Amino acid sequence: MSNLVAVVGRPNVGKSTLFNRIIGEKKAIIDDISGVTRDRIYGQSTWNGREFSIVDTGGFVRHSDDVFETEIRSQVKIAIEEADVIIFLVDVTTGITDLDSDVADMLRAVDKPVIVVVNKVDNYNRQLEANEFWSLGFERTFFMSSLTGAGSGEVLDEVVELL
Ligand code: GDP
Ligand code: MG
Repeated sequence: MSNLVAVVGRPNVGKSTLFNRIIGEKKAIIDDISGVTRDRIYGQSTWNGREFSIVDTGGFVRHSDDVFETEIRSQVKIAIEEADVIIFLVDVTTGITDLDSDVADMLRAVDKPVIVVVNKVDNYNRQLEANEFWSLGFERTFFMSSLTGAGSGEVLDEVVELL
């Protein structure tokens, strides 16, 4: 698949919500209990006249905390093998977790463009809080709300620029 964007990140950060917003339909299952996406799901979208595919790599079965790392590793593996651009999704409401730092370490070693997207930035206070994610050290860091769509234009501008 050419022009493929992969969304990686730990459970519950909003990968499926972002995926559905970008493709404009509800293909991925969203749930407050993390890990309900059964397998990776592909969708298609267009931005600034550029067509691209997107994959929601998140979640294989319902799981407990101790399998999070295994899951993340398979997501990153899929992203490394298949994607042209990787969106690393994180959650402003939890701040940077240990698992986020582990994913950041894995992605730093990847020879593909990585965009950090801080999700759930629904309001101004959360914009201020989101600044902590600059410390992950990725030059391309964006803030957005997959719920309201705020900030999604800037993210997609960058994505298609990198394809
Ligand atoms: P995934 O496990 O990473 O695929 O996460 P989901 O897409 O299933 O979302 C997990 C929860 O976060 C759901 O309750 C979503 O409604 C919620 N969520 C996703 N994006 C946002 C956002 O931008 N703002 C807020 N406030 N909640 C969000
Ligand atoms: Mg999901």
